[in-house]
Amino acid sequence: MLIAVLKEAKQDETRVALTPDAVKTLTGKGFEVAVESSAGMQSGASDADYQAAGASISTDRTQLIASADVFPVVNALPAVDQEQMKSGSVMIGFLRPLDDPASLAAAVKRGVTLLSMELVPRISRAQGMDALSSMATVAGYKAVIVAANHLHKLFPLLMTAAGTIPPAKVLVLGAGVAGLQAIATARRLGAVVEAYDVRAAAGEQVKSLGAKFIEVDLGGLQTEDKGGYAKELSPEALELGRQAIAKAAKTTDVIITTAQVPGRPAPLLIPAAAVEGMRPGSIIVDLAAPAGGNCEVTKPGETIVHHGVTIFGPGNIVAEVPVHASMLYSRNLINFLLLILKNGELTIDRADEIIAGSCVAFGGEIVNQRVADAAVRQVAAS
Ligand code: NAD
Repeated sequence: MLIAVLKEAKQDETRVALTPDAVKTLTGKGFEVAVESSAGMQSGASDADYQAAGASISTDRTQLIASADVFPVVNALPAVDQEQMKSGSVMIGFLRPLDDPASLAAAVKRGVTLLSMELVPRISRAQGMDALSSMATVAGYKAVIVAANHLHKLFPLLMTAAGTIPPAKVLVLGAGVAGLQAIATARRLGAVVEAYDVRAAAGEQVKSLGAKFIEVDLGGLQTEDKGGYAKELSPEALELGRQAIAKAAKTTDVIITTAQVPGRPAPLLIPAAAVEGMRPGSIIVDLAAPAGGNCEVTKPGETIVHHGVTIFGPGNIVAEVPVHASMLYSRNLINFLLLILKNGELTIDRADEIIAGSCVAFGGEIVNQRVADAAVRQVAAS
């Protein structure tokens, strides 16, 4: 059985699905691994590193795709590659099945088993496979570094003979995995940090990191679902949050915004008027940009200036830190791969809760109802 690590085809992608360390784990268990030449180059891994880990190097992508059984990927292979895949082969990675199911149609048709890292259930047994959390950690950190780099001010309080410099003020919206990492990073750089989230549980975590939690009275509204995720709020509840944010934004230097509701467009938290109320030179880094953005004027994938405020809408911020993003992602993938590669065999046990949750397509059919519904919606919208 052959496991193939391909060069990512997406233009802004610098990560690699499996690092040499991860490959070594697989070859150590007797699996055959082939790596497309220079697949790891942008994340610091040379062909020689992969060879030292026991992989072979291939310069023939088409032949590699036609012969491999398992494809660990960062992003789904493009349709032109999917058409060459063997029936019964497995592709596993960030496949975006709810956002763009049509981009997987060729693989479904060929009978490729599709496993989505986004849909791995967040149960204790799957914690080591939680690639969303890994990437959110990298994104939260990097967003603060981007902001600090572009802000025309220093972050920490400095007392010098020439006078005292007050600390920068940072506001973090959404205190999940990315938001908490952003708070911790901004605090380490010496900023004064405030944060807002609709989940009451987030308040304690925010305070434990030394930040102030902005309390908004939503009248006892249930804001969390059974899984601990935020629910989509009513327009009235959203507006109460927006008012508190607009007030805090007037005196803040940096806003890092991370709010998401799984399966829904990102909630609008910063209307254009709130941006216009900020001081010129302030910075917004909108990590929700790929889901539409939390800020009304965000342009996904672009950096714009609106009324003197610079708004970053990064499309793939983790690709700016490819070494550690690949390292974490690769470990998540290996943990998942070891679930389907047992005793030298490829075994897709669809009764397993993790596989059942993440399996998008099997035997030529979409097997996840949410994905099937998303596919119908996508066709209707096109
Ligand atoms: P996410 O990326 O879906 O959302 C980010 C944050 O945005 C969340 O904290 C959410 O509450 C917040 N948000 C949504 N709508 C908002 C609004 N209108 N205003 C303000 N904030 C809003 O979430 P995530 O970071 O992936 O994690 C969400 C929860 O899941 C957290 O409690 C996290 O600790 C938990 N979690 C659990 C596991 C596990 O293995 N059990 C793993 C990762 C995360």
